[in-house]
Amino acid sequence: MADMYSLGRGDDSLSIEGRSHQPHSLQANFVGFCSRCGGDLSSIAYYRVSGGRAVAAFCDGCQKPFLLRFDESWSFKDESELGRDGVGGSAPAAPGASRLTDLSREELETVFTPAELRDMERCERGEAYTRQNLYRARAKYEKFERLFGVKIEI
Ligand SMILES: [Zn+2]
Repeated sequence: MADMYSLGRGDDSLSIEGRSHQPHSLQANFVGFCSRCGGDLSSIAYYRVSGGRAVAAFCDGCQKPFLLRFDESWSFKDESELGRDGVGGSAPAAPGASRLTDLSREELETVFTPAELRDMERCERGEAYTRQNLYRARAKYEKFERLFGVKIEI
């Protein structure tokens, strides 16, 4: 089961598996590129957490918050989608983005393998997924758009 991270509503406390952490800094810095869309990630808040540090950041491409985790010496550990107030992956998709469930299964299966589709769905729901599958799927979005005229943004 995936770890659950969320930001408090109305403040910037970070909840990790039910434990609340207060930020020690609310600086907005450029902190890297989004692994999903390549957009710029800007920090929202910095936290000390068990095992290292965590930075809540917002992607200007996905328009979603992410949690970046680092060890004590600021070596990058991992990145997860971040919910607001426990909402997590059930938050509505950004306007204009096509949700997988709205697309024809038959068309999707023409282009993507079952493993790719599974991980696209998991990513869309904010669950843990296999990055390699999503990368492979992303490389085919253009082909899908060309064939069916639908732009996928996951
Ligand atoms: Zn992004």
